Amino acid sequence: MGIISRHPPATTAAAAQDPRFDGLVEGARMLQPRTVALRRAVHRHPEVGLRLPATQAQIVRALDGLPLRVHTGVGLSSVVAVLDGARPGPTVLLRADMDALPLTERTGLPFASESGAVMHACGHDTHVAMLTSAARLLCDRRDALVGRVIFMFQPGEEGYDGARLMIDEGVLTSAGRPPAAALALHITATSKSGVITTRPGPIMASSDDFTVRVVGRGGHSAMPHEALDPVPAAAAMVGALQTMLTRRISVHDPTVLTIGRISAGTTANIIPQDATLTGTVRTLSEPTRRFVLDELATVCRHVGAAHGCTVEVAIEPGYPVTVNDDAVAGRALDLAATVLGPRRAEPMPHPLMGAEDFAYVLREVPGTLAFLGATPPGVEPSEAAPNHSDQVLFDESAMEHGVALYAAFALDTLR
Ligand SMILES: [Zn+2]
Ligand SMILES: [Zn+2]
Repeated sequence: MGIISRHPPATTAAAAQDPRFDGLVEGARMLQPRTVALRRAVHRHPEVGLRLPATQAQIVRALDGLPLRVHTGVGLSSVVAVLDGARPGPTVLLRADMDALPLTERTGLPFASESGAVMHACGHDTHVAMLTSAARLLCDRRDALVGRVIFMFQPGEEGYDGARLMIDEGVLTSAGRPPAAALALHITATSKSGVITTRPGPIMASSDDFTVRVVGRGGHSAMPHEALDPVPAAAAMVGALQTMLTRRISVHDPTVLTIGRISAGTTANIIPQDATLTGTVRTLSEPTRRFVLDELATVCRHVGAAHGCTVEVAIEPGYPVTVNDDAVAGRALDLAATVLGPRRAEPMPHPLMGAEDFAYVLREVPGTLAFLGATPPGVEPSEAAPNHSDQVLFDESAMEHGVALYAAFALDTLR
């Protein structure tokens, strides 16, 4: 995969010559104690899903006194803050997600979760803290802004459609005209601390879950010919689905289909009435997504029919493919190199097959998701506990780079 940049290679010398970014990194560093304090406070009180009243209150308090118009959500605990620049111009949107995961924390951190089996294991606490500090930094530089900044604090990223619900509640028009560009940062425990990575085009996969119920006829295990055993039919489907992927989808079009759960029966001497397969499909394009979901139903029905069983297929649609705008992704990476230094910007070699609901924003606005590495000091990125682990640790010093990049992206868009 080629490299992103459509812009001239960025250098620290360029940053030094570009007065828009003067003191930006230093400003983010000055805010670091505040960023860390908010991150830890949010980390202590994690909340799951769309209703995050404590997190929402912490954000509103952190923005208090800044020259922002702050709105809170109706159907979800979102926070939207709008900063008016000195002169009219385009709008830029910066997003942080706010929600945690249903997991019991085992990090041993002094500021570990006090909310039982709930943990900020995906680093969304750091996102909240970084975006709040970026808002503070940009408020100080309001005179340099030609246009408006939307700060989007979003609940329910971990499978609750929070971004789509915020779009339904009007986040994209909260500053009048729709955004000309959008950026979301995501921290990751398994890449080099303080390094920004992104790529043009698809960066994360679509994610749809499915359930296949294979219905036969129960009976005695010793006399299978008098029953209709759904278990061999279900087993045949597992193989047939993998074969379908390799024979029907181009090798250049990455696709994943995983059966995560198979259930049937109760004991050795009973042939069960039915068997159930549950799985997930990940793709990097909408046509392939539709094709695989249609084809998996066809394959399962036909394999079931070959075994004399009936088959019910249910699809639970998840997030669409997250597709970065080529130019905006290139600009974000160039800005990272310019403002943070060339060693802090690396093109991402391939997409991740996880999913992200910023996809919904990127369907409406040319923008980019970018990752911020935060492997703790002294740990190899490949050895670090990953996001979603109950032992994941993030290097907090990476956050100042995220703060500076959020601010630089807004300044660059609204020049
Ligand atoms: Zn996550
Ligand atoms: Zn996440």
